[in-house]
Amino acid sequence: MSAAKLIEFNSLDADIQELIMASVEARNYSYSPYSNFKVGAALRSEDGIIYKGCNIENSSYSVTICAERTAIAKAVSEGKKKFVALATVADMDKIFVTPCGVCRQTIYEFGDIPVYLTKSTLGTVLVTSAKELLPFGFHLQDASA
Ligand SMILES: [Zn+2]
Repeated sequence: MSAAKLIEFNSLDADIQELIMASVEARNYSYSPYSNFKVGAALRSEDGIIYKGCNIENSSYSVTICAERTAIAKAVSEGKKKFVALATVADMDKIFVTPCGVCRQTIYEFGDIPVYLTKSTLGTVLVTSAKELLPFGFHLQDASA
């Protein structure tokens, strides 16, 4: 997979734009009363279905789950294990919010899929990948295969 690059939202393929817009929609459902930091994610499975996720905070802070892992949990619990792309968006217009370490490991588990990181303004999208986000992620199987 190639190095991260910046691409204008309007230049992306329609299916990627659709995935990003699904992450924006998911962000609307964020349950974040403690941080008010809203994040949305959207994961497309190999058969084209989009699974959306948002961050879900908890008054016991460590119980909080991120948007990326919510989307992955929804997809895997519906029998999906092969994914073609993930998009995430936070409520930030100045910086790209990247997945946390736990989410990077969770994404990595399912292969080197493209990851689209979007600011709330949608203008420019940072395109990276699971392996780029976590180059030497933990894996019990041969990760080079
Ligand atoms: Zn996370």
